[in-house]
Amino acid sequence: MILKWDFMNLKAELEKELKVYNEFKNKNIKLDISRGKPASEQIDFVSDIFQKAETENNFYMQRKGQDKLDVGNYGLLAGISELRHLFADLLDLEDDNLFIGGNSSLNLMYDLLVLNIMFGNQDSEMPWGKLESMKMLCPSPGYDRHFMMAEHLGFDLISVPMREDGPDMDIVESLVANFPNIKGIWCTPLYSNPDGFVYSDKTVERLAKMEAAKDFRIFWDNAYFTHHLVEGKVNRIANIIKLSEQYGNPNRVYQFSSTSKITFPGGGVSLIASSKDNIDYILSHFKYKTISYDKMNMYRHALVFKTKEDVESHMEKLAKFNRPKFDLTLSILEKELKDYEKYLFYTKPEGGYFVSLYTMSNCAKKTYNLCKDAGLIMTTAGDTFPYGIDPNDSHLRIAPTFPDLKELENALKLFVTCVKIAILEELINKQDNFIE
Ligand code: PMP
Repeated sequence: MILKWDFMNLKAELEKELKVYNEFKNKNIKLDISRGKPASEQIDFVSDIFQKAETENNFYMQRKGQDKLDVGNYGLLAGISELRHLFADLLDLEDDNLFIGGNSSLNLMYDLLVLNIMFGNQDSEMPWGKLESMKMLCPSPGYDRHFMMAEHLGFDLISVPMREDGPDMDIVESLVANFPNIKGIWCTPLYSNPDGFVYSDKTVERLAKMEAAKDFRIFWDNAYFTHHLVEGKVNRIANIIKLSEQYGNPNRVYQFSSTSKITFPGGGVSLIASSKDNIDYILSHFKYKTISYDKMNMYRHALVFKTKEDVESHMEKLAKFNRPKFDLTLSILEKELKDYEKYLFYTKPEGGYFVSLYTMSNCAKKTYNLCKDAGLIMTTAGDTFPYGIDPNDSHLRIAPTFPDLKELENALKLFVTCVKIAILEELINKQDNFIE
């Protein structure tokens, strides 16, 4: 490896960074950039909109929408018509393709995995749980909760490298064609968590078209489909549900999303978009677990968002909360890590909630621990890979949205200091070994 600094310089540089680090440590700070959560100002902004809509519409006493049914009472397992239509419009599908659920899309993913394990799907020869083994493809790095959920439910996790245009499709195609026990793949196609990558049309087409077990399902977590960051730029992905149908695999895709980061995380509405056949199958099972989801909350959302354009203009307003935080993050990384660019790289997302930093191999865990010891909580290094194991120990996830700008600046300055220390120590170690 070509080193920028000679040995003495490395030691001097390390001492300088350790001094900065110890100053941070003495401040007893408590900062958290570990999870993709909106800031409280954003929640205030949304609350204000909901409060006005509820008052103007006499929400609690009115309670009747298009379905002419009291939304304060049981009924409509698939959700209220207004929201089925709104999301069908946003996702370029028919109303029948939409199921509106409760407060969490993760909950729906869990339910569909359990459904398949217990009963299989309409295309299964037997329930997935009766197979000798169940395997799930995990484009990595990916969303830690996807991986942990599948592992918890008994799937063997198979890591597939993630690239800028989606998972490595040569690998995906060859695995699913040859191993019928691979029953699913996790995908976060637009502004992937954690890299912020966008699946190319080619990738989406290959996923829709590829040869796979008949009951194979794509878990298409489109959590960030409205969360664009660049002013005036809207990235779109190909319509995988329509493409799968065209290629003769009409039931291949379960698409998920929610309003967690449009309205209230943990207090919004979630959805499944899928073939009409899949939606009917899902309803035929879900009817045993609930009479209906929270239609009061659905109706509240329908009062605020009447059209697709309402959602889009709302999201433009919300982008103003997050854009400065991403700008600040990237400008600090660029300025502070310039001399280290040979050893690391980071993503520059155009939407979503995360930035990935790939540091030098063997340095991610060390960086994470340095941050933790000085009071900065990051996503645990490794968690974005199946079984928590990053084979290169190089990936770190930054979630810049929750702290205010001043806190974020402090957090990132500490973070880059830790990144530098871990790299310098690794370089010095390497040289020590070399000298010996
Ligand atoms: N999917 C992805 C990719 C996410 O990043 C998140 C939140 N961090 C979720 C799902 C959670 O969604 P929900 O609140 O609807 O359960």
